[in-house]
Amino acid sequence: MNSYPAPRYTPSIDGLTLAAILFMALIGLVLVDDLFAPQPGAAKAKEVTLGQPAIELVVAEPTVVAETTVVDEEVGSGQGNPSKSAGDGAFAAPYKKYTITQGLHGFSYGHAAIDIAAGQGAKILSPINGEVTELYIDQYGNPTLVIENDIYRVTMMHGEYTVNVGDQVKLGQKVGRESNLGYTTDMSGQLCAGRNCGYHTHLNVFDKRIGDNSNPLELID
Ligand SMILES: [Zn+2]
Repeated sequence: MNSYPAPRYTPSIDGLTLAAILFMALIGLVLVDDLFAPQPGAAKAKEVTLGQPAIELVVAEPTVVAETTVVDEEVGSGQGNPSKSAGDGAFAAPYKKYTITQGLHGFSYGHAAIDIAAGQGAKILSPINGEVTELYIDQYGNPTLVIENDIYRVTMMHGEYTVNVGDQVKLGQKVGRESNLGYTTDMSGQLCAGRNCGYHTHLNVFDKRIGDNSNPLELID
């Protein structure tokens, strides 16, 4: 009776105590780590959290720019008529609907041109993909707009033009509205400027490839 408690205590206490001490020490180390870790750890976590949205915004911006660019190209090629891309040889009438009010004339201006009309205030459209190179009032009082590219030099007169020298314009883009400004006359030869008559666009097309005027009627079909 007296003998068995003593021998049993010694080994069992030693084993449990060692295991318990090791276990407590491990927990103690983890707790100590946790006590020190949170401060630098939290600071790092905040930096990461702030950094991530900033990166996402940077990534998002070029994506939007890319979409806008694509839309522009689609609109441009859509307006660019059968010849599809912004080919310099593309040509179209300066109005969606129009009537030819005078055949080839204009030799007093030093060129050959036609008169084309769609009605007072009608949108005047660029016949080519090009650049506005001149905008002035000539000696007859005609507002004169020149748009050109590597192939064509297009001169239009009498309109209220809304573009400026240096503007890049696409075929079909609005460049002004039809008017009767400058030297326009009615059927009896009376000046129409300031009167309700003579609204049209005087249209000349110079073909740089042949170094001569083109007949606009052949270009617009
Ligand atoms: Zn004319």
